[in-house]
Amino acid sequence: MKILEKISNKLNYKKSSKKRNIEFLVEHYSAGTKDTTQNELDYFARENVGVSAHDFVDDFSVGHSVPYNDVAYHCGVDYSNGKAPYWGKCTNYNSIGIEMCALKDDKILDLRNPTINNAIILTKQLMKEYNIDADHVVRHYDVCGKNCPAPLVEDAAAWKCFKYNLQTPFKVKTTKEGVKAYSKIGGAVVDKFELGKKITITEVYLQNEHLYAKSKKGIFFRLKYTKKLVTR
Ligand SMILES: [Zn+2]
Repeated sequence: MKILEKISNKLNYKKSSKKRNIEFLVEHYSAGTKDTTQNELDYFARENVGVSAHDFVDDFSVGHSVPYNDVAYHCGVDYSNGKAPYWGKCTNYNSIGIEMCALKDDKILDLRNPTINNAIILTKQLMKEYNIDADHVVRHYDVCGKNCPAPLVEDAAAWKCFKYNLQTPFKVKTTKEGVKAYSKIGGAVVDKFELGKKITITEVYLQNEHLYAKSKKGIFFRLKYTKKLVTR
């Protein structure tokens, strides 16, 4: 993934005079049809629009627009009448905003969507750097009630898939006897797992509203028939 940087017009964000306490990562999408990381970086560097995001992500790159220690204006307006679960908890001051550029026309809302895949890679890096766990990775929707990022709001399973992928690798245990294991999604059955089998998952995929896990050994099975093991 290519890394680009072009810092935003100063009028679109607020310089922070002290070290910020970053507790949340907030996912957005740009809702345009031809947006790219580069044209978003150019636009926010040029214009005075009074809004911003720290990073932009498209199919090929991540673009850095606002320094992480400064305050981007990305989740400060409430559309939920105070009812969104993270309103008042997650703010512009304690969060980093990530904007996905190339989602609108893509109906394949799983890990194979390259923009989502790159957003997952970036989000995981920031989780590690700022010691943030998956519970504190939220959608703009969860903070303000806005339908953003719409493809991950309108399809609850797509958001679930995104969240699981932030946590890989993780271990699960099968919750029924004879869980079918496939060579690929939609492929042949290559094994049947006994009840209580522990498996390490490296990736989660969404296909026809079903979540499939890929094991460390490269075989696939329905996540539904497993339980996540808490390792901490
Ligand atoms: Zn948003």
